Amino acid sequence: MKPEHRVELYRRLAAVNPNPRSDLEYSNHFELLIAVVLSAQATDVSVNKATARLYPVANTPQAILALGEAKLRDYIKTIGLYQTKAKNVIKLCELLIAQHGGEVPNDRAALEALPGVGSKTASVVLNVAFGVPTIAVDTHIFRVANRTGLAPEKTADKVAAKLEKVTPKDYLLNAHHWLILHGRYVCKARSPECWRCQIVELCRYKPKSRAADAEPEPLKGKPVANASRTAAKSARKAVKKAVRKGAKAASKPRSPRAATTVASKRERKPSA
Ligand code: SF4
Repeated sequence: MKPEHRVELYRRLAAVNPNPRSDLEYSNHFELLIAVVLSAQATDVSVNKATARLYPVANTPQAILALGEAKLRDYIKTIGLYQTKAKNVIKLCELLIAQHGGEVPNDRAALEALPGVGSKTASVVLNVAFGVPTIAVDTHIFRVANRTGLAPEKTADKVAAKLEKVTPKDYLLNAHHWLILHGRYVCKARSPECWRCQIVELCRYKPKSRAADAEPEPLKGKPVANASRTAAKSARKAVKKAVRKGAKAASKPRSPRAATTVASKRERKPSA
């Protein structure tokens, strides 16, 4: 993508959402750190539901240690990998108290030394809590960077490095949020909504989807991925079956007995 197109891409994303925020709910650096740790391979919605119950009870390293691992597990049991995450959060709290006075460090190496904190989590915390212009690449950003041609690469690390290199300085601080939100709500994984995309003319993805391609709302209680396809398949099967049945009935001579049965049924039927 040409440099001037990159600038225009970010200009447009910024115009739609001048002050982007994470979808995770938090009110201080510690809450943010724990929410990001819990969000690995889980949705922000599921994390928010759990932390909405946990944080009023315990939102400091000391309070989480006082709560203990078993009770912490109970608060976060609706989140994927909760058992491992509970263990990590307890160890993380111990380390924060022992080495950082209970505060979240503003330092990549110190963050990455905490249990359950990898380079992506560290980048998010540095960016959101301390205003460090880093870009943590998750599945949404990886997809948007590749589809648009903004930073096409094969691995998340390479996309992150390229994005940090090519993103104009003025947009670097918020680029992470703009790209993640764009991927989550517009450039969706299965069906990108190109017809309402604000960067459509700058994006090299083909073919662009039209409004008619939109996935219908999933049926309640069915798996999201297959609900509409399953319904369409069943409808097609039913039509084929009906056609086959009709053709068979029309070609098959009716036995005298069957004809009599139908006739007698008709006779027995009370008239309206
Ligand atoms: S035009 Fe389509 S593929 Fe390109 S960024 Fe927008 S939604 Fe994604």
